[in-house]
Amino acid sequence: MANSPVLEHRPCPTCNGLIAGADPHRLCFECLGPEHAGDGLQYPSCNACPMLPQLSRRHRMEHFQAFYVSP
Ligand SMILES: [Zn+2]
Ligand SMILES: [Zn+2]
Repeated sequence: MANSPVLEHRPCPTCNGLIAGADPHRLCFECLGPEHAGDGLQYPSCNACPMLPQLSRRHRMEHFQAFYVSP
C-alpha cells in the first residue's frame, strides 16, 4: 500500500478541490487561477510549475480557456 504515497491526492487548503500528488503547488490549479496556468506554460515564474510535465500545464491552460470562452 505504501508503494507510492507521493502520488496520492491531497486536499487543497483553500477550496474543496484536490491537488495531484505529483503537483508541488501549495494550492490546487483552480485556486492558482488562469494567469498562473498561462504563465506556467511558457516561462514559469514559480518554482513548482517546471516540475509539472509540459502536458499537464497545457491541460490546465486549456481547462481555463474552455471555462472562459465567450459565446
Ligand atoms: Zn483549491
Ligand atoms: Zn506554478
